[in-house]
Amino acid sequence: MIKTAEDLFDSAHQWLFEAIVQPVLFDLGLSAFLEDAFDGSMWLLIGVLQIILIAVVFGSLQRWRPAEPVVDRQQIRIDIFYTLIHRLGLFRLVLFFSIQPIWDFLFGQASLHGISTFHVDQIWPGVTDIAWVSLIIYILIFDLVDYFYHRAQHRFAWFWSLHAVHHSQRQMTMWSDNRNHLLDSVLRSTVFVLVAKLIGVPPGQFVLIVVLTQLVESYSHANIRLSFGKVGERFLVSPKFHRYHHSIEYNESTAGPARGHNFAVLFPIWDILFGTARFNTGYAKTGIHDQEPDAGSRDYGRSFLSQQWLGLKRMIGSKTAGF
Ligand SMILES: [Zn+2]
Ligand SMILES: [Zn+2]
Repeated sequence: MIKTAEDLFDSAHQWLFEAIVQPVLFDLGLSAFLEDAFDGSMWLLIGVLQIILIAVVFGSLQRWRPAEPVVDRQQIRIDIFYTLIHRLGLFRLVLFFSIQPIWDFLFGQASLHGISTFHVDQIWPGVTDIAWVSLIIYILIFDLVDYFYHRAQHRFAWFWSLHAVHHSQRQMTMWSDNRNHLLDSVLRSTVFVLVAKLIGVPPGQFVLIVVLTQLVESYSHANIRLSFGKVGERFLVSPKFHRYHHSIEYNESTAGPARGHNFAVLFPIWDILFGTARFNTGYAKTGIHDQEPDAGSRDYGRSFLSQQWLGLKRMIGSKTAGF
């Protein structure tokens, strides 16, 4: 079954590349990028499949059991735009021409100076080099990095200024995961690629980790009132668990020393271990406390460009820590 799905995907990828991408590159005189474009077309196909799955499966669940009524469709459309540019490859394309050469240079320098990658799968030969065992280890490592990346986004004022773009959505749905400041997206991608290189994740497993993480993230932002059960809620981040992270209730006095709760991306275990988990919460109203009229109705922007611009302005003007 898995093999058939993989074969189907490979055939579709091959077709997309040969029928569309390759001729376009030849026409534009960009045949030097054929190999990279082959990778790029894989990400494009994955993005299309993800978006279909999100729209059909998560969309049906949202209509069936919404956590709250939809009152602001315009803001949902903005989130769909964020999702399309992130998942269909536009963002990846910009990274490829801007950051990728810097990454390549740094890793080239590192290997020139004898700094080699640490191979996690070689720790315990016979066990950690079994594909599914190493995959689980990699997923746990990335998820722990994500947890602390997220803690930092709330801890440092300049970082919070950017991350506030994500939290300013008061109408959270399955499209809200990618609503981020672009600078923040570049930073997170950089951290992910660095970690992947440092621990020697094979490219095929890296793709799988990114795809799984993105799907759980889309689901955990969805407007769905559906519990994973007492045990399940502690095992995998659910819409209820992450919705509480987005609660508009937090302010200087209620957010706690970590400036929030429920930071985990995939596994709540990190929040449990580091004392930031909250489970008995209900389905919180989402947003940032200073968006409320009695706290000044702060404007975080209603269009993509204004959200990005205001985020930059906040970052430049940030002095004190975010909440
Ligand atoms: Zn956050
Ligand atoms: Zn979120």
